Amino acid sequence: MIPITASMLYSYVQCPHRVTLDLFGDPAKRDPVSPFVELLWERGNLYEKEIVAGLKVPFVNLREVQPAEERERRTLEAMKSGAGLIYGGRISAGDLLGEPDLLRRRGEGYLPGDIKSGSGLEGTGQDQPGRPKKHYAVQLALYVELLEALELSAAAEPFVLDVRGDEVVYDLDAARGTRLPPMREEYREIRERVREICRRASLTRPGLCAACKLCHWRSHCFARMKASDDLTLIPELGREKREKMLPHLPTIKALAEAGAEKLADGKRSLVPGIGVETLRKFHDRARLIKTPGAKPYFTGEASLPREGMELFYDVETDPMREVCYLHGFVERTPRGERYLSFFAARPTEKDEREAFVSAWNYISASDFSALYVYSHYEETTLKRLAARHPGVATAEEVEKLFGRNEVVDLYGGLVRPKMVWPTHDLSIKTLAAFLGFKWRDPEPSGAVSIQWYHEWVVTGDSALKERIIKYNEDDCRAMRVLLDWARKELARGPH
Ligand code: SF4
Repeated sequence: MIPITASMLYSYVQCPHRVTLDLFGDPAKRDPVSPFVELLWERGNLYEKEIVAGLKVPFVNLREVQPAEERERRTLEAMKSGAGLIYGGRISAGDLLGEPDLLRRRGEGYLPGDIKSGSGLEGTGQDQPGRPKKHYAVQLALYVELLEALELSAAAEPFVLDVRGDEVVYDLDAARGTRLPPMREEYREIRERVREICRRASLTRPGLCAACKLCHWRSHCFARMKASDDLTLIPELGREKREKMLPHLPTIKALAEAGAEKLADGKRSLVPGIGVETLRKFHDRARLIKTPGAKPYFTGEASLPREGMELFYDVETDPMREVCYLHGFVERTPRGERYLSFFAARPTEKDEREAFVSAWNYISASDFSALYVYSHYEETTLKRLAARHPGVATAEEVEKLFGRNEVVDLYGGLVRPKMVWPTHDLSIKTLAAFLGFKWRDPEPSGAVSIQWYHEWVVTGDSALKERIIKYNEDDCRAMRVLLDWARKELARGPH
């Protein structure tokens, strides 16, 4: 019997196929673990140690007890003798196995908790309290189910001790509006899917998603997706829509070659669950992907601000430290181009604030004809900074800035709604590379920038700071490359 663990549930939320491969895949086909993932582990462990070292109440420490069966026996023993707090315990029942970081006594029972080096909620912002994270919730729900099976549960209210030191309670039975069931129900469904995978009663397949970038199966899965002409290789199609399309149009080729009669009957889509417009969009993308030597094109009219002083703006943030460490701008005028950056030398509130003040003052003082970003991330980040550092700018001022006609999100306002690309995703890295742009760094990505920042904070090595800044500068220039190409194409007119 394969036990169902919290990390399997976590993986399932990221990608069901990862559970399959981790259990039954050929280990020789794994990629090396990415240095960024190693950094996440390392920081997670360090943070856990810090929190445990700072605990103000006595606790039973079982973290290092070996073998695992002995740890489990001692955990039960500690709970039965009424220990107030247990660190590093292990509990199991049937095919379920859990290792909650903490078990805290309440009344006659226990509440499980995990120490996380990320924020306890997602979607927090001004006036938004945030919502529980699904990948945390499923793990906590497993511990609660185990405690219930052992008749040692205090309540379905597990907790997370998060990166800010906040204790965030996850109420598993709380209503979540009309569209979502309480988290506990969702957990049970996911647990059953994982159980089926463990019994090999359910087949999964790879599907391109955000988690692939850092996954140790990425090369193996990508090769399989290419070989099977998988629909998720169409940008933004995703696993959920693929499942709906499989019975009707199972491959990119089938979709590309489908005539209009296979897509819609008048205004009615012939693929249940996917609207006609969405289906046509994916059809266009599939056709382009299948056309050798294809070039991207505009699907309709698009207008861009006049040339003059143009700013290309990109921020770098570290989500674990919850810090925005760099604001970078390429400023282009008819006289030439320069790059400016505002860097938080330390991941402190003070340094983050100073960088934010400088960037905001720079934007406010610039008489720009256009400010370009790629995605809504810069707006979201500035709003978060406005909430965290009162007196610099208000959320309303940030909103007003991004509401101006001169501020253009090249992704949300141009690439996504008005263009078709023969690529597998629409990231600025992919599109600018398609247009021939080369980053000076051999391994550019937001994840490695975070890793360099971490190393810079630890070592103070100026080469790392330079690398971070150069990478950000190239990200800004990549937007400029995309814009110049788009402007040229638009000037050529429909073709
Ligand atoms: S590479 Fe992607 S599809 Fe494959 S297991 Fe990882 S996340 Fe899933």
